[in-house]
Amino acid sequence: MRLCLVRHATLKIEFCGHVFLVDPMLDDAGVRPAIQNSPNPRNNPLVALPVAPEDVVQGMDMVLVTHTHSDHWDETAARLLSKDLALIGQPADEPRFRSQGFVNVQAIENAFTWKSVEIVRTGGQHGKGEIANAMAPVSGFVLQASGEPTVYIAGDTIWCEEVRETLERYRPAVIVVNAGAAQFLEGDPITMTAEDVIAVCQAAPGAQVVAVHMEAINHCLLTREDLAFQLEAARVRAAIPGDGEWVRP
Ligand SMILES: [Zn+2]
Repeated sequence: MRLCLVRHATLKIEFCGHVFLVDPMLDDAGVRPAIQNSPNPRNNPLVALPVAPEDVVQGMDMVLVTHTHSDHWDETAARLLSKDLALIGQPADEPRFRSQGFVNVQAIENAFTWKSVEIVRTGGQHGKGEIANAMAPVSGFVLQASGEPTVYIAGDTIWCEEVRETLERYRPAVIVVNAGAAQFLEGDPITMTAEDVIAVCQAAPGAQVVAVHMEAINHCLLTREDLAFQLEAARVRAAIPGDGEWVRP
């Protein structure tokens, strides 16, 4: 198993002989407006993809989408991906995928087995209180297959009970967390802060934590450098890949 951070939350995962594309955001830099009511108002995405979007979608066997906020599923991804590709996501997003022409959509309520890969849908909190309710639903996924390390893609969630339970229940060897401490002008962060990533590392010693979802969307204020500094101060380790960089467990 190995994974490549394409950009932001977009990942390529080689697992059990298949290539999965996670949360494809393939728009060119600057083509979307800044997130409303957010600090640092600059057009999104802030940075270009490391390769052409046509190259990102090449050779994929399956696409996994945690939720359809525009930083996880955008127009370019919907346009470029083959409409008969297996597209797996949460039930709330199924009508949208179908309306975009995808014919091989599988919504996962709890769990689903795709070609000997067991995919479990997990919960999360995309912020706290009212903001979290407005941002819901979001999902994460646990991937399991014999002979492969268990992979947990937490999705857009802060450190919360659902994440803690998932770590305890599945003991993943690889944990991908969406950091960036995304924020609106008011309220608490809606994705993981450095403290949240530290909590994940401490709750899963021995796992390879991979922190992504930074420096590509205007309201993600936590940078890779800040996060690396805070992880080191807390004496925990996580991979913080650059765009286009591969990580192995
Ligand atoms: Zn996000």
